[in-house]
Amino acid sequence: MTDNPVPYINSPDYLQTVVNHIEHPTLVIDRQFRVVLTNQKLLGIARKIDSGRPFLYCYEITHNLSKPCSGKANPCPLQKVIRTKLPVVMTHTHFDSLYNKMYVEITATPILDENGEVLHIIETFKNVTRQNRIETALRESEVRYRSLFEQSGDAIFILKAEGPQTGKILSANKAACHMYGYTEEEFLRLSVTDLETPEHAAKAPKRIERILAGETLRLEITHKGKDGNIFSVEVSASRMDVDGRKFVLSIYRDISKRKEIEGDRDVLIRELQHLSQTDGLTGLFNRQHLDKRLTEEMERARRYATPLSLIIFDIDHFKKINDTYGHITGDKILQTASFVIKETLRNTDIAGRFGGDEFVIILVQTDISIGMQVAERLRSRIGQEQVPVRDDQTAGFSISLGICQFDKTFARAEDFIARADAALYEAKRNRRNTVCKI
Ligand code: GH3
Ligand code: MG
Repeated sequence: MTDNPVPYINSPDYLQTVVNHIEHPTLVIDRQFRVVLTNQKLLGIARKIDSGRPFLYCYEITHNLSKPCSGKANPCPLQKVIRTKLPVVMTHTHFDSLYNKMYVEITATPILDENGEVLHIIETFKNVTRQNRIETALRESEVRYRSLFEQSGDAIFILKAEGPQTGKILSANKAACHMYGYTEEEFLRLSVTDLETPEHAAKAPKRIERILAGETLRLEITHKGKDGNIFSVEVSASRMDVDGRKFVLSIYRDISKRKEIEGDRDVLIRELQHLSQTDGLTGLFNRQHLDKRLTEEMERARRYATPLSLIIFDIDHFKKINDTYGHITGDKILQTASFVIKETLRNTDIAGRFGGDEFVIILVQTDISIGMQVAERLRSRIGQEQVPVRDDQTAGFSISLGICQFDKTFARAEDFIARADAALYEAKRNRRNTVCKI
């Protein structure tokens, strides 16, 4: 249909021929809305075409109304055409015989007389119900997606995925503004790499390539807000195709709280682990952990044929110390012994309190001759220690040590310990404050 009025043609036959060729139901009316011509197609939708009256009004035929169309649902296009002398397109709602709602697009085109006044109006009716339904569904789905986008607690971005500005932010939701501290306009001047820490930003082009290839990326990375604060986010990014163009849809969830909790949990686990392996009084390993470590080291020595030595020592006359100065002084002596051990040994050596006043030292990759030197050094250093016992009084103490080297005939940790214990027994039997080896 043209945008211009149809010029005056003073021939009803000619007009009838033209109208018959229009593929949609069509009628021609005069200025009083009286129907002067119709085409065959109109007969399919018209209701009262055979009323027997000399003329019918257009609204009687098409809408079964007794007065002209009015109101929002059915505005009258004709008044406007007469006023403006220009074609008008309007959509009317309509119910068919089964009361299904239909949408009819009415195009009203004026035919002007020789004075340029509206003489007739050609009205064509096009059923746009299907098209209208599709558009409504699209609109509704767009509204739904928009509300998802806006109401999401996660930051959602749409990014440019092609060309030199790849990664540029094209759209950001409210949650993104809240999470990063930028306004929507500020976001539109940024690229996604501006939100990332440098080590992650460098990997952005590769990531976008993978997304464009159809991969949905899920990863945890660190982002930074407008004020420079760094926080952990969980990313889910996928490709979005719109009208043949590719974009990246990126969703970011702030997981810094979760990370904090995970961090606290890790610290707690490490503390519990430490507690479960440690002797409370001395801070050295406890018996359970020593057994485990000794088994592991024996296995290693067996497999790689490396030397391994074991020292067991016991404080001399400890009962007497306890009885004379009390348990608290006894405890101080145990702590002093462990302090000297920590100072004397290498980091790779494994030391622990076996129970009571007995200590065990696993000398990793050490043969008995070196082990003897370590044991002797330990005995000598402990002999130099003085522990406060009463007011300004101090007392020294001594230890007896047994040492033996790993032998592959030792099947279990107990066998090794029993041999070192036998050496300790020898030291006690001799004169105490000495080292014995087996
Ligand atoms: P020996 O020279 O033969 O080793 O004589 P001893 O008196 O040291 O005898 P023994 O090693 O059998 O004595 C260990 C004592 O250590 C017995 C116990 O009362 C004391 N004891 C065990 N655990 C603790 C502790 O945690 N603190 C204190 N103060 N004493 C402890
Ligand atoms: Mg003792």
